[in-house]
Amino acid sequence: MNQLREAIKSSRAPSAEWESAGARDHTVQFYESDAYLVQSLRHFFGPALRNGGTAVVVATEVHRRELSRVLEADGIDVEALTVAGRYVAHDAATLLGAVMRDGMPDSGLFTPVIGDIVARAAAAGTPVRVYGEMVSILWARGRVAATLRMEELWNDLQHRYPFALCCGFPMNTFAGRAMETGFAQVCSHHSRVHPAESYSSAGNEDDRLRAIARMQQRIVSLEREARDAERMRNDFLVAVSHDLRTPLSVILGYAQMLRRRLGSRSGDDVRTSEGLQSIERRARMMASVVEELADATRRENGRAMVLHREMVDLATLVEEIAAEQDQAAPRHHVVASVDDHAIVGYWDPVRLTRAIVNLIGNAIKYSPDGGEIRIGLRREGEGAVLSIQDSGIGIPADDLSHIFDRFYRGANALSTTAGTGIGLSATRQIIERHGGTIAVESAEGRGSTFVVRLPVTIEPISAES
Ligand code: ADP
Repeated sequence: MNQLREAIKSSRAPSAEWESAGARDHTVQFYESDAYLVQSLRHFFGPALRNGGTAVVVATEVHRRELSRVLEADGIDVEALTVAGRYVAHDAATLLGAVMRDGMPDSGLFTPVIGDIVARAAAAGTPVRVYGEMVSILWARGRVAATLRMEELWNDLQHRYPFALCCGFPMNTFAGRAMETGFAQVCSHHSRVHPAESYSSAGNEDDRLRAIARMQQRIVSLEREARDAERMRNDFLVAVSHDLRTPLSVILGYAQMLRRRLGSRSGDDVRTSEGLQSIERRARMMASVVEELADATRRENGRAMVLHREMVDLATLVEEIAAEQDQAAPRHHVVASVDDHAIVGYWDPVRLTRAIVNLIGNAIKYSPDGGEIRIGLRREGEGAVLSIQDSGIGIPADDLSHIFDRFYRGANALSTTAGTGIGLSATRQIIERHGGTIAVESAEGRGSTFVVRLPVTIEPISAES
């Protein structure tokens, strides 16, 4: 706390930016340090309170406490204003809990809760300034759609009551390429954007231009570093997958040989055979991960996956994989419902097996014990449709459009289940390379259904690059 107080003392935020703010502006204030935010809010609220206005502060406890402290230091009697109803402070997390339904801000709750607070503040007819942090809590939890919905609800409220609104977002919650779109969306939901202190605390115009030039230099350096790091990572992955392949195939080969030998002798003990089966299964799993890495790295290096197509009966393949997965997952039921007729085409059976195993493996992994995984396969026109349905944890709405990205993991998966985030990206790559598509329907807590559509290729395709 003392550290923050010291930082607040030495932090400077420009007051001029707030002087030009209109009565109905909706400003986003980015910040790097809490100290800077508090200083900026001091300029946002201070003059309005001195001129008879009302302040509504929806923030964390630390921000509320430090803000009222700096306002008091400026000679504003926050306590008296609170009693007079002209300084209204609420805990952001508590209010957030009161306006959410099914993971989204609900207008039916927002209006009576937030609308009521603002209506009472506006009733006096004097200027109202509102600061809100519910959006940044949602954002920090990775709830992009919910954050933007909340911003819309605030905008709607501004059509009903005249008040200036400021939302605070810590800049470090926007780190990463994946945040670029979200960042632009957050900005577009506001009528004014106040940059964080590394830019805006710079004093005069010359200082500001120098700050921009410095930042541009930093961007090109970071881009260069990111490219170098990516190249190094790819080289490393290529080396690792290459070096792991050989020992794994030796382990697998010997395990198979030992099991065959054991099987031909009578009276050998069952546990040894089961142990060997387990070694074989695990080695195959590891080999599959290694192949996934190799394929993904090849793609990153701009080289397409080369398929090894051969004649395959997809119906038999899917039935066999489902039976195998059912056996390997004693706490789940994998149930296959496959067309009676063979679905024969030219596919890469190793890669296709990997894709199907990935999908069934996920369905098992993300379902509670006793869960049922339903596999369906049917002919549809010129193609085959494979579906994998589970009734597990489901995928949060914000994650749905990202789960096929390499290394991406859903918010609810991260905390509960181990994983690498490469399975689905590899699966999609395999399916698309076969000319097919993969889609998912899911809701958090309500299970997921992955649907793969594959064209049935009836001619062997010799070389694909
Ligand atoms: P991993 O499972 O190793 O995390 P994947 O690439 O296979 O990586 O999956 C990416 C993310 O997609 C997972 O982390 C999880 O959030 C989500 N996901 C995939 N399949 C399911 C499923 N059947 N149920 C719920 N979430 C799933």
